[in-house]
Amino acid sequence: MRLRLYGGALRYRGGLTVFTALSGPVPALDERWLVIEDGEGGQGVGEVRANIAFLTHTPPEQVPGLVRAAAAALPWREGVAAVEAALPGLAPAHPAIARAALDMALLDLAARRAGQPAATMLGGQFAPAIPTNNCLFGGTSDEAMLATARRYAAEGFRSLKLRMGVEPFQRDLERLAQVRASVGPEMRLAVDVNGSWSVAETIERAAAMAPYGLDYLEQPTAVGDWDAFAVAGRASPIPLMADESLTDAAALERLAGLGAPFLGHLKIVKAGGPRPLVAAARWLMAAGVGVMVGQMNEGVIATAATVHCALALRPRHTELYGAYGLLADPAGSLVYRQGAACLPDAPGIWPEFNPAHPGLSLLWEFTP
Ligand SMILES: [Mg+2]
Repeated sequence: MRLRLYGGALRYRGGLTVFTALSGPVPALDERWLVIEDGEGGQGVGEVRANIAFLTHTPPEQVPGLVRAAAAALPWREGVAAVEAALPGLAPAHPAIARAALDMALLDLAARRAGQPAATMLGGQFAPAIPTNNCLFGGTSDEAMLATARRYAAEGFRSLKLRMGVEPFQRDLERLAQVRASVGPEMRLAVDVNGSWSVAETIERAAAMAPYGLDYLEQPTAVGDWDAFAVAGRASPIPLMADESLTDAAALERLAGLGAPFLGHLKIVKAGGPRPLVAAARWLMAAGVGVMVGQMNEGVIATAATVHCALALRPRHTELYGAYGLLADPAGSLVYRQGAACLPDAPGIWPEFNPAHPGLSLLWEFTP
């Protein structure tokens, strides 16, 4: 067996800057790719984005060492089956981002060995396309935002999410009204506040936004404050979705305890991999909590892995636009057609990673 970790930066077409109330402006995605070779000609690749400390609280420069430490704690000499069995036991001592890279690479390896798409290995049924929302980030002019909204509508997207909390609320509300008027009543709209509002602000602002017909209001209250989330959610005319607060088993339990109409946004990097994500989602759905399968803005392999999770779960909401408009990804490109993320019916997570891609650097190599 041999493990290698690569690093590289990804950027979006047109200089798109990811800009939320929590992340601030992010000009490039700082990606890590973990390649696992089984020594028998098989290979699996996992991808995580390192510069998401606002979510993971892990500084990007520590991610390579943390993935290495998690890998070193696994029983590679006993074979892949023993490694897979031991991986869940690395929680919580090893952080979710490190476990996610390993779980994704091992899932890709196992699915390729089985000749099955990862969605099938996750207990679902493969389909070549699944609808996704797209996102209107902060930090742009009203004209640019409306032009983007109209372009997404013309491209077939049927669900858009607006980021709020960067501008004063009155400006955000005017933008929401403009977007609704511009894309029409059929478009599904949602708002993500990334933890910027108090309970009182959330209740008052949810009432002000309700006439614009929102599907959900994502993480309006402070990250980690479940009491605030619960109180605001019971008074809000729009269902609240937890995102940044949903980081560990205790948080999942808290959300399950709230039940409907509360919602949870699950991401591979928070759950510790595609398989823990699918398990957490099934558990929340059984508790009556609607789920969004989503992701960070990430590269092609991480996005394709999320698409497989969504295919396996068929959740109420999907956020799979991470690889939309990416330039020069070492795993090629993901096709978006008519507002859906599309995958070929191929073994594994599917994309082929090119380690010789310009700009990539080998960060470490580990032979157990
Ligand atoms: Mg969010």
